[in-house]
Amino acid sequence: MDIGERLILTPPMYFTEPCDKCGYCKGTKDDPDNYYSLQSLYENAKGRSVQNCTVGFQCENMTISIYDSLCNMGYRRSGHFVYKPDLLRSCCRLFTIRTTPDHVKLTKEYKSCVKKFKHFVQANTSVKPTAKKGNAPFDYIEELTQISNDSSNDFYTRYEPAVYTDEKYELYVKYQEIIHNDHNNNKRSFERFLCDSPFPEHIKMGTEDEWIQLNELGGKAVNSTNAMREPLKRLGPAHECYYYKDQLIAIAVTDFLPSGMSSVYFIWDPDFKKWSLGKLSVLRELTLLSKTDKPYYYLGYYVEDCHKMNYKAAYGGELLDVCNSQYVSLDYLKKNDIIDHGHLFTFGKANAVEDEIDLDEKLDMRFPTLNVAEAPELTNVAENIYGYKGSVAKNQEPLEEIIETIRRYGINYNYNDYIESLYVGDDTKVSHKKRPDPATLTILPTVVPGLVPVHEILDMLETERLSELDTKLLIFDTELQQIRPLFDFYNESDEVKTTVCNVVRLLGMRLAKRALVIV
Ligand SMILES: [Zn+2]
Repeated sequence: MDIGERLILTPPMYFTEPCDKCGYCKGTKDDPDNYYSLQSLYENAKGRSVQNCTVGFQCENMTISIYDSLCNMGYRRSGHFVYKPDLLRSCCRLFTIRTTPDHVKLTKEYKSCVKKFKHFVQANTSVKPTAKKGNAPFDYIEELTQISNDSSNDFYTRYEPAVYTDEKYELYVKYQEIIHNDHNNNKRSFERFLCDSPFPEHIKMGTEDEWIQLNELGGKAVNSTNAMREPLKRLGPAHECYYYKDQLIAIAVTDFLPSGMSSVYFIWDPDFKKWSLGKLSVLRELTLLSKTDKPYYYLGYYVEDCHKMNYKAAYGGELLDVCNSQYVSLDYLKKNDIIDHGHLFTFGKANAVEDEIDLDEKLDMRFPTLNVAEAPELTNVAENIYGYKGSVAKNQEPLEEIIETIRRYGINYNYNDYIESLYVGDDTKVSHKKRPDPATLTILPTVVPGLVPVHEILDMLETERLSELDTKLLIFDTELQQIRPLFDFYNESDEVKTTVCNVVRLLGMRLAKRALVIV
């Protein structure tokens, strides 16, 4: 395997920070039980609080198709950092949300947003608003295509590689200062956040063909049949630059993936606030997607009890059940109060909740939609598995035994009591100023939904399945400054074995075979 095909990563790390550092709730939820992933965990908190918890790694290289899989396992990237929230312990439930162009059912607010936009961009042109044919339903795809097609207005956008320019940086600073009251910006932080990505150089820059197609697609006629959808050539990150009267007024940062389009970030000129460019950019991207062979639009994370994030419900769609790598209709979850109070969900058969399925098997299923309404045997079993009296909690003793046995293989796993690990004790006693010891960063909790469970790791150790990684997984030895294959898992150093097991916990065996781990 070519090195460019590798997933090059640092050892997985686990970060915690106080809730007031959480970008979503800022530690200011009205209802205290909303901080807890499950009702029973709140009831047994006894004054103890939770933190903002994330698992992730620094990624030096990966292919777009690996990133596609990771997105569907609940990960996101910020520059080179790939992470996912610990949905059990965190103060907020960040669910991966995806939708399709047909799932969008526009509310009045969004329709008027499109109409206003049309009015603004056509303000200086002679084009008269087209008369509606009878009572034709409002079609955002058609409306936005028409605007893109109309060369007489002063608005246009351009897709290009996600690279730094002074013009982009100036817009970023203006946006950060006025919208986020952040005056601590520099060119490097802009680049790290919105330009850098872990993809190979040729993917970052793309081909002329890819950019030409992207820039033409938005204005192409709308085809309702799937057969007319164009195979999208672009794979990789992109900046879509919005111009009005040749002035840069917004940048949409996106990743084009084999299964669709992932929205990364959007910045806009505060002088154009009334244009609602943020809302509009999502509709524009869905319009583009509707003309391609790619099905899904990934909107990042959805947070039910966070106003800044729950607007995404307006685009329809479905949330990722991170334990099963399947998606469930957001409508269904809302109607049945399943994610009320920011609670965690996972679907399963009520009587068979002991185990989670193998991560590699999940990847094979290609992240389908689970039609819960038509599968009455399935119910939300999050409380049964992870609740205060759930199966994981009941199995405390076996968990301790499992970790004990894993340690006999030289793997530095630490047992942490499941229930205790969910809380941080009296908040006033937690020192927020102390920097965490880097050595503790690589210790993962015993139970994290969506990671390979520790009993499965033990099973792999005992059946010698981990030897499958020999000669396949690569190690970059930072001391020797050398890349070498994993020779014989069982005879590696404790540090290497521990890191490899953590990589397997995060990525599953199949992706671990494509990894190059920096140790
Ligand atoms: Zn939070």
